[in-house]
Amino acid sequence: MLTASLEEFRAALAAQGLGARHVAVRCPICDTIQSPQDFIDAGAGRDYDSVRRFFAFSCVGRWTGAGNHRRGWPPGRGCTWTLGGVLPIHTYEVVTPSGAVYPTFEPAMPAEALAHHAKRQKTGSGLQLPAKRLAHALPRVTPHTRSPAPVALAALTSPRE
Ligand SMILES: [Zn+2]
Repeated sequence: MLTASLEEFRAALAAQGLGARHVAVRCPICDTIQSPQDFIDAGAGRDYDSVRRFFAFSCVGRWTGAGNHRRGWPPGRGCTWTLGGVLPIHTYEVVTPSGAVYPTFEPAMPAEALAHHAKRQKTGSGLQLPAKRLAHALPRVTPHTRSPAPVALAALTSPRE
């Protein structure tokens, strides 16, 4: 568990040298690097103000139809993880000056955030696959992750939450 002060958290994001819409964090479950702009692109909200309540708390995959993360999948696609779920699994938390503790996604390293931003500039998405292609994406299946194809496809195309 990593614990940071609010000041340290903000400093880690500022160290990325990107605007507010492009700072990036990492999902603790699927390792996908994600920015507020990814949430806007995915339809979670019109602008920064409307997506920041999700950013660093729920994985952008909840809006792209990415489905649950399965072991062996490479990062980049997102997943359905949210820190608001019943399982209190998180790896990073921010403590405010008043002592309140908030689980959050961990800030990405500056190089990761810059690479993510550069990828979006080049391809139109910071994620591994554009949302419209996710429904056709095939997971990298291992003996541990194998599931009947219809189930996996249903999860990938489930309604946005
Ligand atoms: Zn995720």
